[in-house]
Amino acid sequence: MLKKEFKRKDVQRARNLITGKTGVSTGTQIGYNKKTEDYKEGDVWTEGRKTWTIKNSIKQTVSKLDVIKKEVFMPLSCPCCGKIMKKRLDKPNYKIHKKCHDCVVEFEHKLRYTNKYNEYIKNLKIKNSLDIVDEMESYLLDAINTSNSGYISEDGVVEKWIGGVDKNEWSKKIKEASQTRRKHLKKELNDKKGA
Ligand SMILES: [Zn+2]
Repeated sequence: MLKKEFKRKDVQRARNLITGKTGVSTGTQIGYNKKTEDYKEGDVWTEGRKTWTIKNSIKQTVSKLDVIKKEVFMPLSCPCCGKIMKKRLDKPNYKIHKKCHDCVVEFEHKLRYTNKYNEYIKNLKIKNSLDIVDEMESYLLDAINTSNSGYISEDGVVEKWIGGVDKNEWSKKIKEASQTRRKHLKKELNDKKGA
């Protein structure tokens, strides 16, 4: 008979050791088990400080890079109108607007009747740049601070941060560079609003 202190957490920890998932916190696993009904295959969500997905019925972390890749890769059909995106201009438009070229043209045509059009275009560009700065910063910080055991990307490749990296020094550099860029972009955004 199991002792009372032998909890589910311990079972999960043992299972993690067996499956090689030593980096997975048991606390998170318990949270996940409680929530299994809430997430289904292919879902992506953030829990704690990590992004998770369920693939082949296994909960696993998604590296920031996978998230970025997903943002850049296009689905086959436009989420807005459902048409297949195969035109040359669909790709660059999808990247920015998450819809096909035709949908963007239609949206912007409607917008043109209002004087907010120019502001919209400028803000869109700046906000997109800010998003990229945020994503890159957290991705780089993640990569540097990831433990030596490495991490598994969505396609199952174990990525490892190799070499004697000065984590503090690099983290500082990344934060500084991101902050400088962010400040510059935000100033631009505010200037545009004031104009
Ligand atoms: Zn469309």
